Amino acid sequence: MEGLTDRPVVGAMPIAEIVDVLRRFLGGPLNDQPHDPAGVIEQLAQGCAQGLVASNGPRYFGFVTGGTLPAALAADWLTAAWDQNVALGVMSPAAAVVEAIVGEWLAELLGIPPTASFGLVTGAQMANVVGLAAARRAVLRREGIDVEEVGLAGAPPLRVVAGEQRHVTVDVALRYLGIGRRQLAVVAADDQGRMRAHALAEVLDRLGPGPTVVCAQAGCVDTGAFDPLDEICAVAHQPDRWAWVHVDGAFGLWAAASPQRRHLVAGVGSADSWATDGHKWLNVPYDAGLVFTAHPDDHRGAMSMQAAYLTRDGSGLRDGSDWAPESSRRARAFTVWAALRTLGREGLAELVERTCSLAERAATAFAAEPGIEILNDVVANQVLIRFGADDLTTRDVVAAVQRSGEAWFGFTTWHGKAAARLSVSGWSTGPEDVDRTVAATIAGYRQRLDGRAGPSALG
Ligand SMILES: *Cc1c(COP(=O)(O)O)cnc(C)c1O
Repeated sequence: MEGLTDRPVVGAMPIAEIVDVLRRFLGGPLNDQPHDPAGVIEQLAQGCAQGLVASNGPRYFGFVTGGTLPAALAADWLTAAWDQNVALGVMSPAAAVVEAIVGEWLAELLGIPPTASFGLVTGAQMANVVGLAAARRAVLRREGIDVEEVGLAGAPPLRVVAGEQRHVTVDVALRYLGIGRRQLAVVAADDQGRMRAHALAEVLDRLGPGPTVVCAQAGCVDTGAFDPLDEICAVAHQPDRWAWVHVDGAFGLWAAASPQRRHLVAGVGSADSWATDGHKWLNVPYDAGLVFTAHPDDHRGAMSMQAAYLTRDGSGLRDGSDWAPESSRRARAFTVWAALRTLGREGLAELVERTCSLAERAATAFAAEPGIEILNDVVANQVLIRFGADDLTTRDVVAAVQRSGEAWFGFTTWHGKAAARLSVSGWSTGPEDVDRTVAATIAGYRQRLDGRAGPSALG
């Protein structure tokens, strides 16, 4: 961790060589005889070094990747050493109570009603699965169908409505839940990727009454844009054609913790379920996903299990497996607790505001260079950057920065145009890191322009 600021973000070696080195250090036939534990750990640390990415360092802007707050890391060591199982309260009162505490804190921070149920999962992918499983149960129950009893085979078709720019994990969650692509109605988005509420109303009117789930999004993974949650909830919650509203807010939900950005999630508390991540903006180690629902009976009904050998305490101690797909499960609440305690309300707000300001700083600096264009309104921590007029220049510039080890960010395609995608999500990123990254990137862009006559670096 001490070396994170200065080491290259990725090693200079080509991937094939890195794989070779890792295989040589760590592979080969498994030993017959035991090895000394300290030696094994030394070998693991040395053997992995070439293949590690400094994704918890200050100049990693790929995907939406948070680092690890020091207290959260230390809490993770305790979590591993304690080795508690949160399936049932009797297995660890400490884990059960801390899970309950972080659920209460988080609901308040994220603008979710205090009566909401809460589960800790591996990430927003599984949080989407849990929220939508509760939704499936609830909307079918309103039709008089017990889906846990009769299955989807015994139920009328369930309709799911989602925005054009939804995250791919929503589609995967629906697949896991037996809901096919034909049951999905897609609502048009505006130029920033926000679901249009009036287009949602049209789709719901066309579908008519029946079991319906609406998937909204707080924080588009490309632009950072937020669906208008207040309008979406108002449209979806009309009594004659009530639909459950699930919000995928893997990173965007954290805007609620910042007085300056809270307006982005106006109306969030009116939704029926919420999915978010701890390992993105909150900066706890992998893996930490968080799911809430406004309907605890449906949440528990979709997840919980009963068997004679599952000893329950009966004293009201929380049984973690009631709220998550897993039975045995790591006590993820300790890292979340430690992160929230060290930050406090103000520290969390400051983390959100600082990363958003740094994204604006990057966008302003890039936009000042002729030929570089910012493709999105930078409302949160995401920036889409296009270099020159053709896709190849953008791809070459991103590849050159990645190879340089100076910083790392990835690609996307936005409205048919290749773009570099910068996400400022790490707690340790400062203005100097943004300035270094912008300078290295612009230098790469100018070099690419100078060598325009030559072949593309990517061939
Ligand atoms: C990252 C992300 C997800 C998936 O989260 P995981 O933590 O990878 O499971 C879902 N939705 C959105 C909007 C995201 O940004």
